[in-house]
Amino acid sequence: MSDTIFAKIVRREIPADIVYEDDDVLGFRDLNPQAPVHVLFIPKRAIATLDDATPADAELLGKLLLAAAAYARAQGLAENGYRTVINTNTHGGQTVFHIHVHLLAGRQMTWPPG
Ligand code: 5GP
Repeated sequence: MSDTIFAKIVRREIPADIVYEDDDVLGFRDLNPQAPVHVLFIPKRAIATLDDATPADAELLGKLLLAAAAYARAQGLAENGYRTVINTNTHGGQTVFHIHVHLLAGRQMTWPPG
């Protein structure tokens, strides 16, 4: 798969406001936040899209979601709540092809999304 800006962030080749890191997952603030808290969680090992994930990725995808939840809990965001989003391909609005979970919090979310 081709390299992305997120792979460069994992390798510290470009700067990012990193707020979470463990062995498998990196979390950093979105450059163009859509809520008072907008953090992107990515696996260090790149998967392009959710559609490219296989059963071999199940543990990593679980870790990705649990990392977002752990961060939200640690930041005191869980009681009021938050939204987690994975955009996939064109109609999903995906623009960076390194799978990521958006964690959005700090305001009331609306449904349906635009
Ligand atoms: P997508 O549209 O693929 O679901 O989300 C990509 C997200 O990455 C967007 O919300 C966009 O603002 C964010 N983004 C794109 N380039 C960068 C970057 O270089 N640094 C950071 N921190 N966020 C970025």
